[in-house]
Formats: sequence, C-alpha cells, structure tokens
Amino acid sequence: MELIFATQNENKVNEVRQQLPEGIKLYSLKDMVYKEELEEDFDTLEENSLQKARFVFEKFNKPCFAEDTGLEIDALNGEPGVRSARYAGEGKDSNDNMDKVLKSLEGVHNRKAQFKTVITYKDAHVEKQFTGVLTGIIGFEKKGNGGFGYDPIFMINEHTSLAEISKEEKVNISHRGKAFAKLLVYLKESY
Ligand code: IMP
Repeated sequence: MELIFATQNENKVNEVRQQLPEGIKLYSLKDMVYKEELEEDFDTLEENSLQKARFVFEKFNKPCFAEDTGLEIDALNGEPGVRSARYAGEGKDSNDNMDKVLKSLEGVHNRKAQFKTVITYKDAHVEKQFTGVLTGIIGFEKKGNGGFGYDPIFMINEHTSLAEISKEEKVNISHRGKAFAKLLVYLKESY
C-alpha cells in the first residue's frame, strides 16, 4: 500500500517512518516534491487535521493522512493547544515558544500538560480520525538535545524530558506514536 503523510515537518516523518510495517510505502510531501505549507484555518486539531488530509488527497488522489498536534497546559486553560506552532507569534521559533510557556508558568505550581495528536486518514471511500495523548509536566528549564518543538520542556517524569530519550522510546510513548499505531491497526484490519 502507498500512503502520503501530509506534512512539511520532516521530524514528524522520521518519527512515523520508525513505526512503518513492511507493506506500506510512505511518501512525505517532500517526496512528492510539494513545498508549500499546508493551510490550518480552524480552531480545533480535528478540523485542521481533516483540512490538510482533504487538501492532499485532492491534490494527489492517493490514500493519505495528516495530523495536527497541540500542547495543552492545564494552568493555561489548555493553551497553547491548537495555536502551539504560533504561540510566540508569527516568525518565532520553537525556542521562543518554549520561552513563552516558561514565562507564563513562572510561579505556577500546577504544571500538568498533555500533547494531543489527531490523525486523519483519507482515501476515496473513508475519512477516519485517530487520537493519541501523552501526559506529563512542564519543566522549569529546557533539557536535552533530541526531539523537536516543545520536547525540551515536556517532562515525562520528574527527571527526564522528551528531548532526553531516544527516538525509539519517544515513538513508543508519544501522542503521535499512539495515534499512528491506531491508524496502522485500522489499515491492517481494513485492507
Ligand atoms: P503542528 O502540529 O505542526 O501544527 O505543531 C504544533 C506545534 O507543536 C509546533 O510548534 C510543533 O513544533 C510542536 N510539536 C508538534 N509535535 C511535537 C512533539 O512531538 N514534540 C514537541 N513539540 C511538538
């Protein structure tokens, strides 16, 4: 089976490739020589994920999936959530986003948070969504050089951030890893 992963984020493609069973050939948008950023016009992960999957299916007419991920922090009423990529403003990067989170939580005791991923699979017959969640706490400083995005401030236990574990370990426990594993089960049962 051939499947397009509708993302421009190569970190996400690398994570997902680790979980691929034999029999599925995965194409990234880079493989399809498509360079534009995909639009995310909505206020929920579900709608943005669906928007991206529909767009890429229409463009290439091949089974595909898209995902949208947000960091939801309890003490910030679920923020940055669907706005995670742009939390510190347009043109800012992950470092700026993490700085803004750390500043927003200065003096805050409750540091509980979760990553949530919504994957939308789409082919000519179905549109189906799969969700994965990873709970943890926001640290007091950035830790580790692995991963990407908010990983250095997302603690999976008191001592360890998501940026301090191997790629294999991350895929086993992560929001995206769990959502993608559900998609793989669905594809195995259905095709
Ligand atoms: P998007 O799903 O690409 O819109 O990502 C939203 C934001 O969350 C971006 O700032 C990403 O860097 C960040 N992000 C997405 N997935 C992860 C992850 O697995 N770990 C840390 N940050 C992530």
